[in-house]
Amino acid sequence: MTNNGGAVNPFETAQRQVDICAKYLKLDAGVTEILKHPKRELTVNFPVRMDNGSYRVFTGYRVQYNMARGPCKGGIRYHPQVTLDEVRALAAWMTWKCAVVSLPYGGAKGGVICDPKSMSRNELERMTRRFASEIAPIIGPEIDVPAPDVYTDSQTMAWIMDTYSMQKGYSVPGVVTGKPLSIGGSEGRGEATGRGCMYVIREAAKDLNIKMKGASFAVQGFGNAGSVAASLVSRELGGKIIAVSDSKGAILKKDGMDVAAVEKFKQEKGSVVGFPGSQKISNQELLALDCDVLIPAALENQITKENAKDVKAKIVAEAANGPTTPEADEVLYANKTTVLPDVLANAGGVTVSYFEWVQDLQGYFWDVNDVNSRLERVMSGSYRGVADVAKKHGVNNRTAAYIVAVGRVVEAMRVRGIYP
Ligand code: GLU
Repeated sequence: MTNNGGAVNPFETAQRQVDICAKYLKLDAGVTEILKHPKRELTVNFPVRMDNGSYRVFTGYRVQYNMARGPCKGGIRYHPQVTLDEVRALAAWMTWKCAVVSLPYGGAKGGVICDPKSMSRNELERMTRRFASEIAPIIGPEIDVPAPDVYTDSQTMAWIMDTYSMQKGYSVPGVVTGKPLSIGGSEGRGEATGRGCMYVIREAAKDLNIKMKGASFAVQGFGNAGSVAASLVSRELGGKIIAVSDSKGAILKKDGMDVAAVEKFKQEKGSVVGFPGSQKISNQELLALDCDVLIPAALENQITKENAKDVKAKIVAEAANGPTTPEADEVLYANKTTVLPDVLANAGGVTVSYFEWVQDLQGYFWDVNDVNSRLERVMSGSYRGVADVAKKHGVNNRTAAYIVAVGRVVEAMRVRGIYP
């Protein structure tokens, strides 16, 4: 997926979103200013020995945005286009996301500028371990708990957990979430982002009187979030997946595709493009498809002021972080498109991360039905809360989610007071 983030700075977007909700919450200018800045930022430049014996210096970031409500939480992404401002934005969004679903966490994010697709497994392991030791002074179960994000996975988390544990001299499973089950991971974490998204779509569809059985879905991005969301909406809601995409391109199959077969095809061929019976379309065509639900599940800044008017979906469910710019939000709202904002629609991942952390701290593990039914309660309850605020204030769901989330963070800041 091309990240046309060059045009729109995601951190400026994140700051504007705070300004928009500050009006409704009648926030003091000083408080608004605090909310528009990250608390702590760490930049690390570190060497990694590559397979050919040479050394390369990588740059990585960990931004802790706000910890008024608890330890910081948020993923680490590996991508060539990572920037400090992108990580700041993602850390802000994690803060609001944790608050909107009422987790006792603040928000953080990390990123390393690299091209993981061109690196070997050994290079990735060495890079991950060195990055983990560079950020070790500011992470830990009580301060900041990383997790997977774009192009990182449970193996990445296992390396971080091991590196941190080696430094401490004992195993610390609660330092990261999204780990493999064998070292304290949680049942259901792998599919949690997609599953949470599916629950929120289902609740919104009830409100909008859209029947999910036979409804058409287009999914941009076929990674951690998008592939699971596609599979679950088709298996559990009876939806028809008419289009999917990945970084190599998009495909359309109007009568619907067998998601498991697409997953298998991508595993074998490295892309969804070329899936038998499908037609290749462009990324822009995918976003403009006539469908019931569009799920952007790739990177930031995909729905912009240029293409928002072309979106025909009745529901846009943001499995990705930051896929819609503020100008695009206005166009979608004016066109009566229901946007399920990222901080709500993809909060299933961090919700089950929270469950994982709780299980690690207690050393007591739950079965998958427990995890999923608790996730369902959190997601449908949070959707209801946001939809009710949207109605009450006559605002779109994003502003409503910010009113809920920022309101909770501000209340925590208020009772704690500003130190000293
Ligand atoms: N990276 C995921 C997100 O953006 C999950 C974060 C977490 O589980 O801490 O929500």
